[in-house]
Amino acid sequence: MMQKNTDLIVPKKAFGNTGVKISKLCLGGGSFGNQNSQAFLNEAMRLGVNCWEIVSFTGNSYSEYFKNNPGIREKVFLSGKVYSTDPVVMQEQLNKVLKENGTSFIDFLAIHPVDNINMLDNSVRKWVEKAKKEKKIRFFGFCTHKNMDECLSKGTELGWIDGIQTVYNYRLQSVKSTEDALQKCHEKGIGIFAVKSMGLSVQQKPEPHKPQLNKVRLNSLLVDHDMSFEQAKLKAIWQNPNLTSICSLMPNRSVLQLNASAAMDERPLNSEIIKLLAKYADSTGKFFCRRCGICETENSDKIPIFNIMEMLMYSRGYGGKDKVSKMFAQIPIEIRSMINSSNYSNAEKKCPQKMPIAQLMKEAYLELSEF
Ligand code: SF4
Repeated sequence: MMQKNTDLIVPKKAFGNTGVKISKLCLGGGSFGNQNSQAFLNEAMRLGVNCWEIVSFTGNSYSEYFKNNPGIREKVFLSGKVYSTDPVVMQEQLNKVLKENGTSFIDFLAIHPVDNINMLDNSVRKWVEKAKKEKKIRFFGFCTHKNMDECLSKGTELGWIDGIQTVYNYRLQSVKSTEDALQKCHEKGIGIFAVKSMGLSVQQKPEPHKPQLNKVRLNSLLVDHDMSFEQAKLKAIWQNPNLTSICSLMPNRSVLQLNASAAMDERPLNSEIIKLLAKYADSTGKFFCRRCGICETENSDKIPIFNIMEMLMYSRGYGGKDKVSKMFAQIPIEIRSMINSSNYSNAEKKCPQKMPIAQLMKEAYLELSEF
């Protein structure tokens, strides 16, 4: 497995047309568990991972680090979020993020989530101009986790978007509309963060560390190239020149070091590994939701199929069943009671991944209901 190279640091890439370069590996805000956050951030800096994401889980990790390390704030590219398009709420949330993270500015502020570009109207644009003028944010954009292709593509037409955080992984590399939209963003000078880089599915058993398909060949290739399955997935994303950085959940020092090591190795990914990854994606594709949202227009009971699919992915792929069950319980009872009996045949016909939606909805109902 690729190990850290102590002589190297993670390379930097231009963040769109902003004139700023950031590390091609970004520290996902959910990385802070029970570990010593300050030692973890020291290690990130040592490895050249200078791009850090803020989410609620980051707590006071960054503010403490900035306090304990005078002068370090300017060396870090901070990416933060607001969760509204109402300028008053955006202002309140930005002020809170600044205060909690011990900084006077956020480098990249994004509205989360955006699944329809019309959400970004003139009132948002004016607020962004004001926040930039006041030097509270340097760059602005949005996060898209649903209907990404359209949001990416239409985002290029607004003219005031500096960056976008989007779901992207090796499974989506065969989707032409995604690749086209990312290229359009690149041509327009929009920086791109990829999230959900492991492309986890809703399969019942957790994804193996090494794929079963072509097991012998792929495993031996990975061994030959001194690479893990996870590192190969990251490297597949970095192959796309339209991406700036992968925002990665790195729950411990070892994952941070392995991901950084993959980022430092800039040799192109072996073409046979690429092909085998694509085959693996294809063979497990019916358990991967590509977040297009088409299914929801094809169900007369208004079952939030996409949201439930995402909950199932978090519960099975990330192991957060208790938290997810609480989210599931928030689906209004009149809708929840129809999940088992609803007709999903049209949705299944239209689903580009050919997912067994009816079966998965039933499984989600059984697994996530708090009986
Ligand atoms: S149509 Fe299929 S791939 Fe698209 S959001 Fe629905 S379940 Fe996911």
